[in-house]
Amino acid sequence: MEGFSTLCIHAGNEPDKTTGAIERPITMANSYLLPYDPTDMNWSDANAVIYTRNGGANQKYLEERMAKISGATDCVCLASGVAALSGTFFALLEKGDHVIFSNVTYVAVYRLLNELFNNKFGIETTIMDTSDIEAVKKAIKPNTKLIHTESPGNPTLKIDDIAALAQVAHENGVLLSIDNTFCSPYNQRPLELGADIVIESMTKYINGHGDAMGGCVLSNDHEIINKIKEQSMVNLGGTISPFNAWLIMRGIETLPLRMKQHNINGMAVAKYLESLPCVSFVAYPGLESHKGHDIAKKQMKGFGAMLSFGLKTDHDTHNKFVSHLKVITSAVSLGHGASLIVFIGEDDERMYLYPDEFKNGFFRMSVGLEDSDDIIGDIDQALRAVGLL
Ligand SMILES: *Cc1c(COP(=O)(O)O)cnc(C)c1O
Repeated sequence: MEGFSTLCIHAGNEPDKTTGAIERPITMANSYLLPYDPTDMNWSDANAVIYTRNGGANQKYLEERMAKISGATDCVCLASGVAALSGTFFALLEKGDHVIFSNVTYVAVYRLLNELFNNKFGIETTIMDTSDIEAVKKAIKPNTKLIHTESPGNPTLKIDDIAALAQVAHENGVLLSIDNTFCSPYNQRPLELGADIVIESMTKYINGHGDAMGGCVLSNDHEIINKIKEQSMVNLGGTISPFNAWLIMRGIETLPLRMKQHNINGMAVAKYLESLPCVSFVAYPGLESHKGHDIAKKQMKGFGAMLSFGLKTDHDTHNKFVSHLKVITSAVSLGHGASLIVFIGEDDERMYLYPDEFKNGFFRMSVGLEDSDDIIGDIDQALRAVGLL
């Protein structure tokens, strides 16, 4: 196999046959030429090139690149990470099926499985701490179809043992899906740890520039990906735009370089925060103080650049601290070049699910690619401005 960096640059690309351009063009056409006798065609075939909602050229190049760099045989790229998550649940789950999902997940998963799929489609769901393998074993029922989790989980950075979950799932004929968005295939490779399905929001580290949305589902099971393609694109219309697919393809060329620096900057900021008396806690899987550190060390190549931390202060001082930041931007999302921070207050709807140290409100931070001295210096000056240092 070629190395990861080589695949990030070459997989899915070849010189354009018409012009000789060495980068493939952006194909914005909605429709593709039909064969001599179109009545022979299967119009809902998600692999036939007919109409861009069923899959277009740039999407297919990106699918090839994502599959190769993730070690998967099959991939479907969709309009967003949430389209990939909802598409997976929609394609795999039938009325009467049971799903176990982590109590720490991206908010859309919480809404889909805690409110929508159960109430609309009669799917049974159990929300639980999926880092407790014995409890997961006990929660499996004869109708359990899927276990879904994230590791590290958004936003508490909880670590699940992916290999152990895969073993429990497979002993019981259950599928395991992992949202790998915080890691990208550079830092963690869930298919190699035994997961059946991997979901990535390509909006984050994979594109890396904060300027295009996309999501994908990866698997070594051709039937699963084909089903998601047919339902999510042909019938639900969650297709990625050719322009976004092209931008993400371009972003991936520097994914390994960016992740290397994210890992270094993430660790530097986490260590700095942990050294401050005004910081109540730091959740970063690279710190030895993190509950999941040993498992993280086993299953991740690097610890990434997502962390959460608390300040020993009141609600409004959190907002004041953010207003003094000059390098770090107050905005949602993650995995951009720019460092981003969000204050999640004590009245957040999911706070009841999080460990006690999070309950006074906390920051989730995506450590960017600026000089780490500048990121740390920015936190330092803002803490001084509000009198915490
Ligand atoms: C952002 C995010 C998503 C959703 O991705 P979008 O591209 O914004 O739809 C899913 N999972 C995790 C862990 C995320 O951080």
